Amino acid sequence: MTTFGQGKAVLFQGNGQPLDACDAPLPDLKPGEALVAISATTLCGSDLHTFHGRRETATPAVLGHEIIGRIVALSLVDPPRPYDGTPLHVGERVTWSVCVNCGDCFFCNRDLPQKCEHLLKYGHQSFALEPWCGGLASHLILRRNSAIFRIPDHLPDEVACPANCATATVAGALRHAGNIDGATVVITGAGMLGLTAAAMAKEAGAKVILVDREQTRLEEGAAFGAAAVIQVQPEGESLREQVLERTEGRGADVVFEMTGAPAVARRGIDLLRTGGQLILVGSVFPTEPIDLYPEQVVRRMLEIKGVHNYAPQDLGAALTFLAEHGNAYPFASLVGAEFPLSDCEAAFAYAATGKTFRVRITMDS
Ligand SMILES: [Zn+2]
Ligand SMILES: [Zn+2]
Repeated sequence: MTTFGQGKAVLFQGNGQPLDACDAPLPDLKPGEALVAISATTLCGSDLHTFHGRRETATPAVLGHEIIGRIVALSLVDPPRPYDGTPLHVGERVTWSVCVNCGDCFFCNRDLPQKCEHLLKYGHQSFALEPWCGGLASHLILRRNSAIFRIPDHLPDEVACPANCATATVAGALRHAGNIDGATVVITGAGMLGLTAAAMAKEAGAKVILVDREQTRLEEGAAFGAAAVIQVQPEGESLREQVLERTEGRGADVVFEMTGAPAVARRGIDLLRTGGQLILVGSVFPTEPIDLYPEQVVRRMLEIKGVHNYAPQDLGAALTFLAEHGNAYPFASLVGAEFPLSDCEAAFAYAATGKTFRVRITMDS
C-alpha cells in the first residue's frame, strides 16, 4: 500500500487501439515533486494528431497536457514552489508549463527552455517510463523544476484549462514579436490560437486583421478583438490587396501564421511591409517546402521567426492576460463540450468532428 493509494489513468496504446482505463498505485513523491488531483483537461490539436496517428508518441501514454488541478501533496524534501517563488500549499488550484526543463543545459542557458536537452513534456511520455505525467488521469505528479502557476480564483475552469498550451504559445509568439502597440497585425487562421492571438494583440494595442478560409470561423473574430476579418479566396490575390488597403499601401507590421499550411505561410511574406515580421507558429507538422526569394527578404528587410512552445514566463503572461481581460472575450465558448474521464473515446470522437475548438474532460469522482 502506498501513501496515496490508487489513481486512474486512461492509456493511449496506439492509433486504432482502444483506450485502456486502468487503476494503478500512485507512487511516493521524490524530492521536488507534488501530487495533483486533476480537475479538468482539454484536448489540444496535438492530442488529436497523436490519437489519429498523424504524430508519433511513445506508448502506452497518458495524453492531455492542457491541465488544471489542485495540489494534494508536496514532497517533504525540497517542496516545489510556484514560478513566483512563494510557498505552495495543499489545496491550491494550479496549472503548469507543458515543458519541464533542467535550467542548466546549453539551450536552457540560451533562453530556449522549451528546447532543453533533458526536456520532459506532460502528456507526451511513456507511462512505463514516466507514469502520472498526462492529463487523462485522476492524478499527475508534477516533476521537479516544473514551472507551476496559481490560477486566479475568478477564472473559470474552461478558460484556465487551455492556458498552458494555446494561450501561453500565443503569449510566446507575441513576446517574440516585441512591442506591437499601434501596429497592424495580420493573423492567419481563426482557430483557438488565432482567436486567442487576436484578443491578446488587441490588448497589446494592435489593430488586428484576422484571416481564414472559412467564413464560419471568422464569425467570432470581432468578439475576439479583430478590427477586420477577411475570408481568403482561393486565388489569393485579393488578400494582399485588402491588407494593403488597410495599411496605407504598406503591408502589415507583423503576420502571425497559425494554420501551418505552407501556402498560407508563403502568402504571409507578401502581406508584410518593408521591415515587417513573419512569426510562424502553426507549422508543427511536416509539409511541402515553400519558395522563398532571398533577395526579397534582403531588400524588404524582412524577419522570419519560428516560435515553438513557450518559456515559463509566457504562461505567466497568459494567465495575467486571462485574469485581466479574459472575461471581456468569449473564451469560455471555445470549450464547447464536456465528457467524463470514463468516456474519453467519445471525447476524442466528438473532438474529431470539429464542432468545437476544445473538448473538456472532467474527472468522475
Ligand atoms: Zn497543446
Ligand atoms: Zn536544460
